[in-house]
Amino acid sequence: MAAQAAPGAPGASDTPLDTPPAVPPAERTVIENCAVATVDAQDTEHAAGHVVVAGQVIESVGAGPAPKGLENVVRRIDGSGHLLTPGLVNTHHHFYQWITRGLATDHNLFDWLVALYPTWARIDAPMLAAATQGSLAMMVKGGVTTACDHHYIFPRGSGDLVAAELAAAASIGARITLARGSMDRGVKDGGLPPDFAVETTEGALKATEEAIDSHHDASFGSLVHIAVAPCSPFSVSTELLREGALLARRKGVRMHTHGSETVEEEKFCHELFGMGPTDYFESTGWLGEDVWMAHCVHMNDADIAAFARTGTGVAHCPSSNARLAAGIARVPDMLRAGVPVGLGVDGTASNESGELHTELRNALLINRLGAHREAALDARRALRLGTYGGAQVLGRARETGSIEAGKLADLVLWKLDGLGHSTIADPVTALVFGPAAPVTLSLVGGEPVVEDNHLTNVDEEAVARAARTQARRLARIAAGG
Ligand code: ZN
Repeated sequence: MAAQAAPGAPGASDTPLDTPPAVPPAERTVIENCAVATVDAQDTEHAAGHVVVAGQVIESVGAGPAPKGLENVVRRIDGSGHLLTPGLVNTHHHFYQWITRGLATDHNLFDWLVALYPTWARIDAPMLAAATQGSLAMMVKGGVTTACDHHYIFPRGSGDLVAAELAAAASIGARITLARGSMDRGVKDGGLPPDFAVETTEGALKATEEAIDSHHDASFGSLVHIAVAPCSPFSVSTELLREGALLARRKGVRMHTHGSETVEEEKFCHELFGMGPTDYFESTGWLGEDVWMAHCVHMNDADIAAFARTGTGVAHCPSSNARLAAGIARVPDMLRAGVPVGLGVDGTASNESGELHTELRNALLINRLGAHREAALDARRALRLGTYGGAQVLGRARETGSIEAGKLADLVLWKLDGLGHSTIADPVTALVFGPAAPVTLSLVGGEPVVEDNHLTNVDEEAVARAARTQARRLARIAAGG
């Protein structure tokens, strides 16, 4: 664009300035003839409805076909046989674990961590990039449009892992919350990770602040959020928790950690701090509406009331909790108390499926094994956890998580007329109770990231090959080769 001289400045002409060029009308995409589950506050659904996307936002949603006479429609999609939902939101993951799946398969959390820390401590930038692409490709292909990665392994000399991860994530096209994790309590300080796998307290805080300053984008429709995310009570110091909370609040970013995952963690907290995990978190500034915590399995009534009172969110990870024999989180009680709850895959070393549909289904099924039995959750509750609930705990419910005019066009069109679903009449039941449905179209801010069950921005086979290469490299290095 040519620079325009300021009026009155040398060289400025006396002719009136041209009126600025009109902003071209946003290109529209129309999706119609599909079932629509909006997941708005009233749980509005349309058996046959439409959504009009203008640019990156939803312009309208309603029953029947789209309004006639719309201008600048560049794409019109017949959604017959499909269900349209908000994009799924994954609130807890460890992308790097994509290259350490299928190991220590019969362990509880602490034994599993101790078995895997030495391998994880050898991770480098090419490994993390390949694992990020693999993790995201798997999730996005299954309808995820926003994903959180809690990354807490920063081996000395491994370079700028945050930048490597974000570059790899950008190639897929989903929204990311990178929760910059940290560990500073090694074995010599009574913690669980080996001393060579931890950072110094000051180093972790400085690097977290740098990640926020370099990458956090708070604007509407942002693709990258950064959160402050010390790993867990048994791998970080009290000082890192306290200072991390102050840093996050000074910068206006969210806070994330693991909490109340196992009975062993509960015991650890009582022995070291003389109180349970929730009281310990509260004493360090870690309850609040800017905080969400993974797992929250071992919560008593007072813990749940504290989360509800403070607006602290929960990332419910039922498959990982089952894989590591951690227990069943009290999700129906949390929801009844008003605790914001989203779903999380958790790292794929403790949930090899790596996609969120498993969590929609397992949230429903596993909670029915708890005290509330068949009344624990239903299909619509599960879908809400995986969409709006997730957006809430990531602090993005004003932008995404439901299909409403003015929100971002993060939308998934699920094919439900094929073999896996065609005999289930209710589309939300088919989506949640049935097998993982093929994704005909997934949009992130109106941009396609999946079409006809294929990722649009990367070659899935190339992602799989690169991940396998890095997984083998890591295994070789960890074995001392
Ligand atoms: Zn985790």
